[in-house]
Amino acid sequence: MADDHAEIRELAARVARDVYGPIAETLDVNRTPITREQRMRLGELGFLGIAHPEEYGGSGQPLSQALTVVEEFGKVCRPAAFQIFEANTGPAQVINHLGTDEQKQRWLPAIVSGEKTMAVGISEPDAGSAATDMRTTGKLTNGTVVVNGNKRWISNGGEADQYVVYCRLSDAPGAKGIGAVVVDKDTPGFSFGASERLMGFRGIPSADLYFDNVEVPEENIVVPAGGFNKLFGVFSIERMGNTTMSLAIGQAALDKTLKYVEEREQFGKQLIEFQSIQVMVADMILQVEAARLLRDAAAASAEPTGIPDPLKVSLAKCTANEMAKRVTDLAMQIHGGNGYTEEYGLERLHRDAHGWAIAGGTPTMQRTRIVSEVLGRKFDQRR
Ligand SMILES: Cc1cc2nc3c(=O)[nH]c(=O)nc-3n(C[C@H](O)[C@H](O)[C@H](O)COP(=O)(O)OP(=O)(O)OC[C@H]3O[C@@H](n4cnc5c(N)ncnc54)[C@H](O)[C@@H]3O)c2cc1C
Repeated sequence: MADDHAEIRELAARVARDVYGPIAETLDVNRTPITREQRMRLGELGFLGIAHPEEYGGSGQPLSQALTVVEEFGKVCRPAAFQIFEANTGPAQVINHLGTDEQKQRWLPAIVSGEKTMAVGISEPDAGSAATDMRTTGKLTNGTVVVNGNKRWISNGGEADQYVVYCRLSDAPGAKGIGAVVVDKDTPGFSFGASERLMGFRGIPSADLYFDNVEVPEENIVVPAGGFNKLFGVFSIERMGNTTMSLAIGQAALDKTLKYVEEREQFGKQLIEFQSIQVMVADMILQVEAARLLRDAAAASAEPTGIPDPLKVSLAKCTANEMAKRVTDLAMQIHGGNGYTEEYGLERLHRDAHGWAIAGGTPTMQRTRIVSEVLGRKFDQRR
């Protein structure tokens, strides 16, 4: 099949392999993100603004092109890929799709250049899958929003310069009271928990956010109360980035395995000459290809609005998340003792695969969404 993004894929693959690949293991071992300079370099190459409009410094290209770059980086250096993911498919897309012209001008150019980063705070200690149970409030009085509450599991928490914080901007119950406001990192009353020690996602910091009477100007409200459905419409873009990270992980594990099974010999022949190994490798190929086709179909559905079809996204995310966990597991098994070492990078792929499957809504919650979309019914999880 023709690759519409062959040129940028080749460039991204080369930069990822030559510049960010060599530091990937160290970032994981030390649990450190890429530096500001390393991020700015991604901005200079245009990788942080692919799916943002030209008037804000981006390239105005389709989402699928940004996903191509996320994928190439995701195969070799997830901490670098995360920055491309966050800028092109993360909270910056909330600003791009739902913000005013003034807000776009204020925040997007710095994200596209790599000067600043923006994280998203949705989850709370008692509101994970049940996001609409969130309790963080933003009370508007005399042009100021006062934010109180806390957020949990926030990727890039403590590192990012700005946060799109989903919160209750009115007293209306459930989803109806929820909107979103941008909070700058250095605002008085805004603090962070300790850096989480996650199984994977090392080099992608994670921390809780605490808001204690944090005052932000009314102009920082991106989505007023009542806009939860709009926010979740745009969140489909983030799920596409998440799907692509899982796809990259699965593809990387498959690529390493395809090489290994022809190099490694036991009982006097290549591993691939054993039929049970052929079956396992075929299963890996089947699962990676299925995830890729669903990801591509979901990405194609994003044109021309930039927002993909939610059913296609849930089908792709669920498949890719579960594929990455299984395929990395099979890859480790086929690599024997080598698969269990840090040196081969497979355990790192496996650890990261588990993280992407939880972030952005679990496969179980995607399944609920799939049935709901197909039948055109809403399933109230509370009754
Ligand atoms: C690596 C990582 C990065 C993350 N990054 C961010 C971020 O940047 N910003 C952010 O806001 N959040 C982030 N999250 C949080 C993430 O969105 C939540 O962890 C996720 O939505 C699940 O919520 P939970 O952990 O509270 O699990 P729970 O909701 O408590 O779920 C526990 C289990 O119960 C299942 N379950 C829950 N409800 C139902 C139901 N109705 N029916 C059947 N099964 C159900 C779930 O599928 C899961 O298996 C991140 C999480 C991780 C692990």
